Amino acid sequence: MAKSSEVEDNATLNSEIIPKKIDKENRSQTISVYDQIRPKNEGSFMSTVREWEKMAGFKTPIVWINTIAISLAHALVLVSVYFLIIDGRYYPKWQTIVFQCLSIVLTTFGIGAGAHRLWSHRAYKAKLPLQIILVIGYTMAGMNDLYQWVRDHRVHHKFSESSADPHDANRGFFFAHVGWLMTKKHPDVIREGKQVDMSDIDNNPLIQFHLKYFQVLRLFFCLILPVVIPAVFWDERVSVAFFAQVLKYMAMLHGTWSVNSFAHLYGNRPYNSKIMPRENWVVSFFVLGEGWHNYHHTFPWDYKAAELAFPFNGTTNLLDFFAKIGWAYELRVAPPSLIEKVAKTKGDLSYHKE
Ligand code: ZN
Ligand code: ZN
Repeated sequence: MAKSSEVEDNATLNSEIIPKKIDKENRSQTISVYDQIRPKNEGSFMSTVREWEKMAGFKTPIVWINTIAISLAHALVLVSVYFLIIDGRYYPKWQTIVFQCLSIVLTTFGIGAGAHRLWSHRAYKAKLPLQIILVIGYTMAGMNDLYQWVRDHRVHHKFSESSADPHDANRGFFFAHVGWLMTKKHPDVIREGKQVDMSDIDNNPLIQFHLKYFQVLRLFFCLILPVVIPAVFWDERVSVAFFAQVLKYMAMLHGTWSVNSFAHLYGNRPYNSKIMPRENWVVSFFVLGEGWHNYHHTFPWDYKAAELAFPFNGTTNLLDFFAKIGWAYELRVAPPSLIEKVAKTKGDLSYHKE
């Protein structure tokens, strides 16, 4: 690696290791933060609801439309489990199960290798065919658009575990997991989100295409296609294909959310014990290697998002394949000497190098 690149890497590393502690200044202003962003002119019913939210201790107002949508999606999971498994008359065909397993790999790869390692962290470069695969995989995941994902993730790293962190794990497991999507953003998150340099995303024609047709593309890749393919190619019932997609979609969402909750709260910290993110092999197993989170927050520019490609790092294994055929290149890795030095000086002593 060139010397100038190492200097840049270390500068990035230092800024990531010591996130700015914005929250301390604002802890005493909890109520005023709520009032500051409380929606105006909502009518008497919602005013009563808002008073209850304040009394219940919510730091920011609830976004009820999101809360209802997320709750209904979970109710649909229960219906799907009953329909596909408990009832016994509507088991999916094996082709549908294989299709959904492949689909979960593609969506997880789209999020991990695309939105996360490529576009948020620029940990490697990708040729257009790989970028197209990643955009399709990401769009199949049915999340917010790529611009929002990348912006929120960059803010998450820069201001980790502070009031400017979109899913600040100091606010508890539920908030870090899904609650942050059900409440208004803290003003610090909004302010810092506006400061993030997004010029690379603004100048990427493929992402601009994804953003321009986002709603149509998401509907097509996350709902229509996963139902039509099983129905057309192996004569699956439409209802069975739909409920199978619901289960895969929600499982994939919880897997991704677990990186922000479980992998920030449970596990050891061999690389830096002064930050919250942890090494969590269970999360890594389910989301193809995104749970080695103490390493990732310490060396966020490493394309592996972990020190090693094994075990449980399917995203890295797939990227290594694409590197072999030349579609992924300029993959950035942390030098072993730097990893060892950082682990020995900052880690929790659980670091072992074979
Ligand atoms: Zn994190
Ligand atoms: Zn990251």
